[in-house]
Amino acid sequence: MNKTATTEDNIQIASKRIIGSLEGPKKGPLVILLTGMHGNETAGVEAVSSILELLEQRKEEFRGRLLGIRANLQALQHGVRYVDEDMNRIWFTSIIEDIRSKPEHHLRSSERVEVKRLLRILDRLQENSSEKVILADVHTFSAEGAMFTIPGKVNEHRELLSQIYAPMVFGIGESLRGTALKYYQKRGILSFALEGGQHTNQLTQYNITASLFLLLQALGCIKSEHYPEIAKFREHLQSHTRQLPAQTELVYQHMIEDGDEFKMRPGYSNFQKVKEGEWLASDRRGKIEARCDGYILMPLYQEQGNDGFFIIKEHEA
Ligand SMILES: [Zn+2]
Repeated sequence: MNKTATTEDNIQIASKRIIGSLEGPKKGPLVILLTGMHGNETAGVEAVSSILELLEQRKEEFRGRLLGIRANLQALQHGVRYVDEDMNRIWFTSIIEDIRSKPEHHLRSSERVEVKRLLRILDRLQENSSEKVILADVHTFSAEGAMFTIPGKVNEHRELLSQIYAPMVFGIGESLRGTALKYYQKRGILSFALEGGQHTNQLTQYNITASLFLLLQALGCIKSEHYPEIAKFREHLQSHTRQLPAQTELVYQHMIEDGDEFKMRPGYSNFQKVKEGEWLASDRRGKIEARCDGYILMPLYQEQGNDGFFIIKEHEA
């Protein structure tokens, strides 16, 4: 392959990876909105492009920088969670170092190539930023039910995320291994996951748009006087999450292993109450019952994925 073609290829790939960017005239944080880490989760991509469109109209009022990114281009193209391996379970320092040090054709999965290309953008951003960096990793889930956030352990996260009204679920961030979230938290970046709703539910995109708008307001990037939509977004989120516990923590996580033939029983949705002993799912070993009382979170109703369900309980502060 000649050199010119490679460079052009890279530019084309990079331009697809970037949904859009915005830099305001005033100083402020660098906000990175990461979407499509799982290729079947397109509501986040749509939401972020609509946010950028809205902000573009008043960009002279924006403080700081904003960048919207599509993470897993191959999986998004195919409409699948992942092509070879889960892109949000390989962010271990050792794997990331390996990805950084090898040329693309020596990487063993489509997702590792995606991570390498994504790092080219993220590394450069961080190098050039003297301001605070915030990374929101936007996801959706297969069951019906309310949205939530996965914050880090730091108080600053709680304060910030309480302003977008979605319930915070503690402990999942720590229990999921190899997530981008954890990788960036360790590097001192304020990062959290936003789980916006069921993959294809009409409300999901709106949930994500509304909460990211409130996040930008909480960070001081935008002001409500310039965006009349903010009042409407706040009202929506408040009414959507009013009945839910504001802070919860993980008590049980059901892991699926290869060949388990896991099947969730129908009808469960996020934050639905479950009782100890309740029959939740089945696999080749038989019935899977709830180990304790609590709320069920992210019961799995899709083929790909290794987390069958989570049980959470109200957080005792
Ligand atoms: Zn996801």
